[in-house]
Amino acid sequence: MPDENPPPFREGVHWASVQDVFAGGVNDHQFHRANSSGSRVTYREKRPWQHLYGRKRWLSLRDRHLDERPLCEYCLRREVVEPATIVDHIKPHKGDEELFYDAGNLQSLCKRCHDSDKRLEESGKTVIAFGPDGWPI
Ligand SMILES: [Zn+2]
Repeated sequence: MPDENPPPFREGVHWASVQDVFAGGVNDHQFHRANSSGSRVTYREKRPWQHLYGRKRWLSLRDRHLDERPLCEYCLRREVVEPATIVDHIKPHKGDEELFYDAGNLQSLCKRCHDSDKRLEESGKTVIAFGPDGWPI
C-alpha cells in the first residue's frame, strides 16, 4: 500500500536532522580542540615561575634530593617501593623563591603519584590511600 509510506518531505527532514547531528558533532569536536589549546595557554600564563625549573640552583637541589630520597614518598606510605623521578614542592611555592629552594619543602614522587594524587590534592580533593592492611592511611 503506497499510501502508508511516509511522504517524501519527511525523509528530507529526517536526513537534514542526521546531517545536523553530524555537523554538531564535528563542531563539538572542534570546540573541544580549540578549548584545550586555549587552556594550555592559560596554564602557562598561570605559572610565570616555570623558568625557575630551568635554573642550575634548582637542578642541583633536585638532583641532591633524589640522591637522598630516591623512592616515591606517596608509594612508600602504601609500602610500595617505586623509584621517584619528580621532586615536588609540598607547599605550592607560586613563584616564591624562598619556598621554591627550601629543601624542607620538597618530596620525591613517582610520575604516577605526582600526576594523579598530587593534582587531586591541589584541586582541593581528598585523596584516600590504602595501606597494605587495607585500612586508609
Ligand atoms: Zn608513587
